[in-house]
Amino acid sequence: MIMPVLPNVSPGYLRPLLPSGPPEEGEPWSDIQADIDKIIIPGLTHWQSPKFMAFFPCNSSYPGMLGEMYSGAFNAAAFNWICSPAVTELETVVMDWIAKLLALPDCFQSAGEGGGIIQGTASEVVLTALVAARERLIRRKLGDMPEGDERMDKAADLRGKMVALGSEHAHSSTQKAAVIAGTRFRTVPAPRSTNFSVSGKALRKTIEELKEKGLEPFYFTVTIGSTGTCAVDDLEGIAEVARDYPDLWIHVDAAYAGSALICPEYQHLCTPIANFDSFNFNLHKWLLTNFDCSAFFIKRRKDLIDTYSITPSYLRNQFTESGLVTDYRDWQIPLGRRFRSLKVWFVLRTYGVNGLREFIRGHVKLGEYFQGLLETRPDVFSVVTPAAFALTTFQINPSKPNAPSSPATKSNPAHEAYLNDFTNDAEAQYREDANRVTKEVYERVNAGGEFFLTSTVVCGLYVIRVVSAVERSEEKYMKRVFEVLVDTAEDVVKGKEK
Ligand code: PLP
Repeated sequence: MIMPVLPNVSPGYLRPLLPSGPPEEGEPWSDIQADIDKIIIPGLTHWQSPKFMAFFPCNSSYPGMLGEMYSGAFNAAAFNWICSPAVTELETVVMDWIAKLLALPDCFQSAGEGGGIIQGTASEVVLTALVAARERLIRRKLGDMPEGDERMDKAADLRGKMVALGSEHAHSSTQKAAVIAGTRFRTVPAPRSTNFSVSGKALRKTIEELKEKGLEPFYFTVTIGSTGTCAVDDLEGIAEVARDYPDLWIHVDAAYAGSALICPEYQHLCTPIANFDSFNFNLHKWLLTNFDCSAFFIKRRKDLIDTYSITPSYLRNQFTESGLVTDYRDWQIPLGRRFRSLKVWFVLRTYGVNGLREFIRGHVKLGEYFQGLLETRPDVFSVVTPAAFALTTFQINPSKPNAPSSPATKSNPAHEAYLNDFTNDAEAQYREDANRVTKEVYERVNAGGEFFLTSTVVCGLYVIRVVSAVERSEEKYMKRVFEVLVDTAEDVVKGKEK
């Protein structure tokens, strides 16, 4: 049985179903369990449903769940080696396995100066990297200047001039990290003409403009698989910029699409990462590892340790002093940490490399299948970005004679012919109509409750996103969502009421 993907409850549904405070005496587990079915499950959005095609997935698996259960049973705040040697050592080993699996450059292996750590979310990783980048620049600029008021004043001046950068389509976590770190934030343009990806040239131009104003660009998030369209920034071009600006910390955010790098056909994307400082992807999105699990790889672990290692006397111990152990507390913002590597180890062993590759490739194929379905109806749909990492984005064509099949693509001959026939006003009107009908179709499909989709706006285009990457995704669901979209689009374009 498939449960409805979206719950049928209204905001505030829960409070009236619960008492006004906790019980005075403990209750039997059977009563608590019964309330899970009665009160909680009706209020869940089912992320594991094959009809969940929104955001990016949050896949779970039997070994992933067992890993969470064991971690809960062993329950520890294992922040340094002696707080549970198995927690630290398993994490180091599985992160080296993962680096190898993704064909990340050797500099990210723990045998050299780098290594990997598991953090909770990509946002946490971006913040950790950005703050470390800020402090690294201060260390480099102020060098041996002695600690004291003068150094602190100079550091404060410098921090006020620092600018964190990200693509205009980078996930909001970069901007949020800049807010938390108290630095400036500036976007780098990533227009439709470059498939919504940042080029090396655009990054260089932004850096030069900022430097001319006396500002200090210190950090840039490169994206592999942007949230809106799964765009991949120009890694080779950005690598050249990295060589010219060694003080700029470049972090690669591959939160969702990074899982595809386990397949050799995507691993050409990994080579340029050797030029960057750090990389992350979320195993909890597309690699069958239960939430939360974000793998963070760093080229020089010293860059993290120099920022985050603060050791009061109560944290001192002979193993730390020996220099023979890793204390992951020095690579992260919180002190305590969960035993997340267990679920990664279970998933890797249960599926094996081949099982995981098959899982990813199946979803990529489903994305291509769905794009193919859209292309059978060019009268109804315009594909804005073709299937990339199982995500396709598209618009609904408004009812307009001679509508181009891809209205906003300047390089599309149909669009060019269209522009020649109409004035710029007509083009603007066409865009507005396409955005309006696309939004209306999107809202009607979600209100229908059979599927859960998300939409976004990229460079002024309102697009619907369809992702085919939950574990139970199948061709029949892609076909069904296509039919629902066609029927809804026809109703909307004909002006039929809901
Ligand atoms: N980066 C990208 C590219 C994303 O798509 C997302 C979320 O979808 C994030 C970062 C944030 O992920 P998290 O929820 O792990 O912070």
